[in-house]
Amino acid sequence: MKKSVNIDEKIGATKFFVDEEYAHLKIKSPEVCHNCLSKPCLNFCPAGVYRFSDNKLVVSYQACLECGSCRVGCPFMNIHWDYPRGGFGVSYKFG
Ligand code: SF4
Ligand code: SF4
Repeated sequence: MKKSVNIDEKIGATKFFVDEEYAHLKIKSPEVCHNCLSKPCLNFCPAGVYRFSDNKLVVSYQACLECGSCRVGCPFMNIHWDYPRGGFGVSYKFG
C-alpha cells in the first residue's frame, strides 16, 4: 500500500539559512502588481511566499524553497528572481 505524503510535514523538515541583508526575490514594479487582477503568485508558490496585504504584495523571501516557479509564473515577469547568496537559502533534508 502506498504511503501518502504530507507536504506541510516535508516543508516543515527543511532548514532555511536566512540572509537578512539581501532579498533574492524582488517585485520590479508594485504598480504592475496592483493592476494584476488574477494574482497567480498567491497560488503557484508552494511556500506561500506571496501574500496580498493592505493593498500591496508582501514577499516573504525568507521562506522561498527555490523551486523557480515565480520566474515563469508571473504573467508580467514582474518578479526579479535570483539565487540566494552563497551559504544562504533553503537546505533540504531527504528521506
Ligand atoms: S503575478 Fe506577478 S504581477 Fe501579478 S501580483 Fe504576482 S508578482 Fe505581481
Ligand atoms: S521560487 Fe518557488 S518557493 Fe520561491 S518564491 Fe518562487 S514560487 Fe515560491
